[in-house]
Amino acid sequence: MLYLVPTPIGNLEDITLRAIRILKEVDLILAEDTRISKKLLNHLQISKPLQSHHAHNEHHTLEKTIEELLGGTVMALISDAGTPGISDPGFLLVRACLQAGVKVESLPGPTAFVPALVNSGLPCERFCFEGFLPQKKGKQTRLKALVGEKRTMVFYESPYRLVKTLKQLAEHLGEDRPAAVSRELTKMFEENARGTLAELAAHFEKKKVKGEIVIVVAGESGK
Ligand code: SAM
Repeated sequence: MLYLVPTPIGNLEDITLRAIRILKEVDLILAEDTRISKKLLNHLQISKPLQSHHAHNEHHTLEKTIEELLGGTVMALISDAGTPGISDPGFLLVRACLQAGVKVESLPGPTAFVPALVNSGLPCERFCFEGFLPQKKGKQTRLKALVGEKRTMVFYESPYRLVKTLKQLAEHLGEDRPAAVSRELTKMFEENARGTLAELAAHFEKKKVKGEIVIVVAGESGK
């Protein structure tokens, strides 16, 4: 049995009672960065064996992990923040579990794109999650493919690339396209800025951008 357990994206209060119980009950916790997860587990007073499971080793450890799961070890997969599998390791293991007949249960919980989308004030009955755009090669192609997209679009971005990406989005989708940027959600310096792509680029160009970022952009003719 494998549980996917979402963990806080900032505020440590954002973890469900069930997530805490499952983390206390499992035999082993697979964690993206064991040092980061240890801090959370210490805070929750949970002491469990931790095993590293990240993008660079998941291909190699998959087979052994599946064997252990088939042997009866109950595991939880957590990432550094938010929901495993959402721009984080998880997909490969889930697919391998399902192929091997291991039961997978995914707990609902924190993830950055939902609060960013919901508080953007942009339509959220239909949206597409684009995750991180490629940093160099392929970025223009991805942006071109979004021209004409009618659904609200959600992107994860690093603070260092925020202004450049807002400008590139404006080039492809139009300077006047309504958008929102959520920074440091659930943390002390949370900021939610709303405006056109051009206004947001100008706003963030004025200062050194820090922290974690979600960009939400209205679809074509979405107001
Ligand atoms: N698994 C996570 C989730 O469910 O949202 C996403 C992990 S991904 C490696 C990290 C990215 O998520 C950040 O670069 C940022 O784009 C977004 N993110 C995570 N925490 C955030 C926060 N507190 N505020 C804004 N964006 C956040």
